[in-house]
Amino acid sequence: MTTKTKMTAADYMEKESNFGAHNYHPLPVVLERGEGVYVWDTDGKKYFDFLSAYSAVNQGHCHPKIIGAMMKQAQKLTLTSRAFYSENLGRYEEYVTKYFGYDKVLPMNTGAEADETALKLVRRWGYDVKGIPDNQAKIVVCDGNFHGRTITIISMSTDPDAYKGFGPFTPGFVVIPYNDVDALAKELKDPNVCAFLVEPIQGEAGVYVPENGFLKKAFDLCKKNNVLFVADEVQTGIARTGKLLACDHEGVRPDVLILGKAISGGVIPVSAVLADDEIMLCIKPGEHGSTFGGNPVACEVAIAALNVVKDEKLAENSKAMGQIFRDELSAIKSDMIELVRGKGLLNAIIIKPKDGKTAWDVCVRLRDNGLLAKPTHEHIIRFAPPLVINETQIREAIAIIKKTMAEFE
Ligand code: PLP
Repeated sequence: MTTKTKMTAADYMEKESNFGAHNYHPLPVVLERGEGVYVWDTDGKKYFDFLSAYSAVNQGHCHPKIIGAMMKQAQKLTLTSRAFYSENLGRYEEYVTKYFGYDKVLPMNTGAEADETALKLVRRWGYDVKGIPDNQAKIVVCDGNFHGRTITIISMSTDPDAYKGFGPFTPGFVVIPYNDVDALAKELKDPNVCAFLVEPIQGEAGVYVPENGFLKKAFDLCKKNNVLFVADEVQTGIARTGKLLACDHEGVRPDVLILGKAISGGVIPVSAVLADDEIMLCIKPGEHGSTFGGNPVACEVAIAALNVVKDEKLAENSKAMGQIFRDELSAIKSDMIELVRGKGLLNAIIIKPKDGKTAWDVCVRLRDNGLLAKPTHEHIIRFAPPLVINETQIREAIAIIKKTMAEFE
């Protein structure tokens, strides 16, 4: 007779360490279940999820309508590849283009793939429409950017952790400081520039919010110079910042819009590039694609996830809850909190280390007190709960953060 011993949290973590590549450094907590704004660990302890899988789970964990749509489609047809038509893809394409107001969508899976797609698209537009000489196209990007992990994307990165030791890099990128209209104006004078790629708020860099008016000024400069304005809203999009898109705060409609993460409610990888015909139709059959992009399950999941955003008024809730969160956090008296910043429910605090205690130690203590968050760049803690959070829950979460900070005094 054999007795099965229950795996402990330490066992699960050891297994990942033994058999998985060491490309992440997770907070020590092993999750087993999620529902709405909460997740539970393998010992049954409940936490507020204040990361939402880097803003992918905007609609809350395991939203019944999204899971229902996935289950229904998964039992019928999961994958056709784009070699054939499906009854789902056209329906989804019509839905998503009308939802965001563009002529066409190009479906992909991950955020990085959608960014890569956008890079190809704007280069092709640069050659075919703008008339840039072959192989001379340039794309202007921002210092501190994060667009994913592929070789081309890290070629744009200014973060040594992202690019160091992975060269040679893809040429054709020009880096300017974030939030610097003058630097942009200077670079856009180069007739070989086809696009300006920007995150409306830099999420991974630590929730850097540009000055009011930056996006609009940058967009106008792009128009003046016949350059495409490309917004990477993989993290900021789908109601995260209190509007459907972060660009909506400034009335800017990007020429090319990149979406990922929450377009599926964090259920399966779904990403999308949206643009009008003049741009999107530059790519012809056989020139770009993906086996899984636009698969039937992805289409049904994305429609359900986007319906939830509208039906449950998540943008409005994000705006209201975000205001309460920032007001309350700004009022905390702690030597360790240098600054609170953000928009909607994409927020961060800048931590000043004290007695050798860093943002990591704060996150470990938050975990002990029932709230999960993760440091970015050592001294910044991002707070991005699911957008379904209600006022009672956000006030409970704020109380946990207050209590935790008090423990470091
Ligand atoms: N773009 C932005 C702005 C992101 O924040 C991320 C991920 O955090 C990505 C792209 C990459 O998305 P993925 O991890 O799905 O490739």
